[in-house]
Amino acid sequence: MKRIAILGSTGSIGVQALDVIRANPESFELEVITAHSNADLLVKQALEFKPNTVVIAREDLYEQVQEALGREDIKVYAGSKALCSVVEMGTVDMVLTAMVGYAGLLPTIHAIKAGKQIALANKETLVVAGQLITNLAKEYGVNIYPVDSEHSAIFQCLAGEFHNPIEKIILTASGGPFRGRAAAELAEVTKAQALKHPNWDMGAKITIDSASLMNKGLEVIEAKWLFGLKNEQIDVVVHPQSIIHSLVQFEDGSIKAQMGLPDMKLPIQYALGYPQRLRSDFPRFSFLDYPQLTFEQPDLETFRNLQLAFDAMERGGNMPCILNAANEVAVSAFLRDEVGFLQMSDIIESCMAKVTYIANPSYDDYVSTDEEARKQATVLLNK
Ligand code: NAD
Ligand code: MG
Repeated sequence: MKRIAILGSTGSIGVQALDVIRANPESFELEVITAHSNADLLVKQALEFKPNTVVIAREDLYEQVQEALGREDIKVYAGSKALCSVVEMGTVDMVLTAMVGYAGLLPTIHAIKAGKQIALANKETLVVAGQLITNLAKEYGVNIYPVDSEHSAIFQCLAGEFHNPIEKIILTASGGPFRGRAAAELAEVTKAQALKHPNWDMGAKITIDSASLMNKGLEVIEAKWLFGLKNEQIDVVVHPQSIIHSLVQFEDGSIKAQMGLPDMKLPIQYALGYPQRLRSDFPRFSFLDYPQLTFEQPDLETFRNLQLAFDAMERGGNMPCILNAANEVAVSAFLRDEVGFLQMSDIIESCMAKVTYIANPSYDDYVSTDEEARKQATVLLNK
């Protein structure tokens, strides 16, 4: 029985993780759930799963949640500090980081320092502070199990191969809703168009990142840290059907791929259940439904965000943290219709040029970099 804490239980990953837990009551027990502001759903989840503790990050919603759960013998806390303490609870074995963005960094650090296994969906944590997080995980003997489908694919390909060096990995990208478009067309695209992903139903931020290919850029950096790779060992190929979730090439030239229908429940379940493969009723893939699996080169000139992410990884230090903060500001402005699709790349590029570069950042440096980059990005927004 694994006892699970979910940071971000009301989001796309969080809700699907609860589906997995509901279907496998003999394998998992839910100890903690947390949410930012969706108090109604958080309460509904708590009444169903009866976790030990819930946290609502927005403090003004505390009363509402407490009132609904007070009689249920469920502890209720509010505020972002509480996120850092609930992951340390003795009754938690594994923390699923399903929050979105930089806000996931500090709770993840607390969970690792408390020796909790991590199922990592919150890729921004590894983008911002990959070196720090992987060092801490080593120091505290904590494994980080990937939830992101591409990284889960690579992890599954590596089973039984942990002593065989990787020659390279190939991350697949769907290409998003604007695959094949020219830059001039992208200038005109709307939020509603960008929010329609062809293969996956996800939270708003990652859906915009998928449309701009920033998601693939973040995943390249995420893969570097998860699998200890050199930059030149990571390739990206566009595969619009999203059936091959990613590939590993070994030193004898052999390539392993992991395949399946696009359904996040599978990688979530693999991360939570590892090393077991739990039985599931998810729909099965058939080659006959997909007579053509196709592959193309990503267009780095049109989708500049992917190139910017490669550049940030190459610069190292706090540059990926700058990229991430600028991107978070740009995406939320795009979601408020305050900037156009292509301006997001302008803002990120300009922040990467202007924000103070630090080669060997400490945790405090990441905090100040994130702050400075957000300020800079906000100045650019208002121009
Ligand atoms: P989402 O927006 O649907 O959900 C985010 C969750 O985090 C919600 O429960 C929200 O309440 C919580 N949250 C947001 N900001 C918070 C804050 N400041 N403090 C506390 N809680 C906060 O996002 P999602 O699509 O589920 O993505 C979550 C993470 O998983 C992201 O890092 C994303 O990149 C990654 N991921 C998602 C998918 C997917 O299919 N959705 C796939 C791969 C990776
Ligand atoms: Mg992914």
